[in-house]
Amino acid sequence: MRVGCPKEIKNHEYRVGLTPGAVREYVAHGHDVIVETKAGAGIGADDAAYQAAGAKIVASARDVFEKSDMVVKVKEPQPAEWAQLREGQILYTYLHLAPDPEQTKGLIASGVTGVAYETVTDERGGLPLLAPMSEVAGRLAIQAGATALQKANGGRGILLGGVPGVAPAKVTVIGGGVVGLHAARMAAGLGADVTILDRSLPRLRQLDDIFAGRVHTRYSTIDALEEETFSADLVIGAVLIPGAAAPKLVTREMLSGMKQGSVMVDVAIDQGGCFETSHATTHSDPTYEVDGIVHYCVANMPGAVPITSTHALNNATLQHGLALADRGLRAIAEDRHLRNGLNVHKGRVTNTAVAEALGYEA
Ligand code: NAD
Repeated sequence: MRVGCPKEIKNHEYRVGLTPGAVREYVAHGHDVIVETKAGAGIGADDAAYQAAGAKIVASARDVFEKSDMVVKVKEPQPAEWAQLREGQILYTYLHLAPDPEQTKGLIASGVTGVAYETVTDERGGLPLLAPMSEVAGRLAIQAGATALQKANGGRGILLGGVPGVAPAKVTVIGGGVVGLHAARMAAGLGADVTILDRSLPRLRQLDDIFAGRVHTRYSTIDALEEETFSADLVIGAVLIPGAAAPKLVTREMLSGMKQGSVMVDVAIDQGGCFETSHATTHSDPTYEVDGIVHYCVANMPGAVPITSTHALNNATLQHGLALADRGLRAIAEDRHLRNGLNVHKGRVTNTAVAEALGYEA
């Protein structure tokens, strides 16, 4: 199969669908790989690195879309890209179709077979191609929060780990899933006093085991949420109710009980946010203040660290990508987890949740 990787064109997107290391794996499986010139510039991988891995460099995205049997990307295709997709071609990338009727129409019109990273499943009921971005966002949330806590940035002026003789900052993590675990790990590693709240007792037990007493766990009730946000210097919002908008767990009224200059990082902003006062921000203007509380609500946090994010993403996408390249549609037919990733095929929406959200018949 000929596998193609264009340069990402979405604003401020520096990640790339294939690393040179991934290209080498496809080539080792006997596939031809074509990569648009400068596609890896954002992660410091130049054309020579792709050529050394066995790829052919082409001058334009048009060449990639025209000549590839499978296109591997990161972000959902933009309008100029939909127009170049065609029936019989596989598109392997994040799609996030449910809130995006325009893109869905574009993909339906193209006839392309679209496999969406975010709906591929695994044996444990997880979303293995989404998890690496949650790992990145969770760890980054602490760096972002620590920076926002500095006085010159509007924060209280407290160091997360304190110093000998001075108490550390208190970090409250709401939601102990993938994002929450990685945020807690970073915060605890820096020496902060960390509490994780979750609604799942089995998950709290697991977290208690993982952290062996270094992090406190609390069952998430209104009482617990109030106590733990009022006493916190940094609050991380990391809840997810699959398929639903995030619940507003910290209300505007609660801000008045919090310490002035404390910081809230709402990682769940891509699902609408779990703080009532959250609205999406960008890397170029990431924070704003409400009632003396600094808010950080960047919707595409992993975009800030494209090198880490691209390698983490490729680690997660490679095996299914190779299966698609090796066996084409048969790989989808034979693997129910990959089939869960199939969102559109020959002009039809094939994923039940996406179809329901947009009013199509699956
Ligand atoms: P996850 O499913 O692994 O974890 C979510 C956790 O929230 C679960 O443990 C669940 O029990 C818990 N939860 C649900 N309701 C709760 C409540 N009322 N109180 C406390 N906990 C509750 O999800 P995840 O991968 O950690 O993702 C968390 C959020 O981060 C999602 O909205 C995801 O889309 C988002 N995310 C954002 C970015 C970004 O760039 N902003 C990047 C990656 C992920």
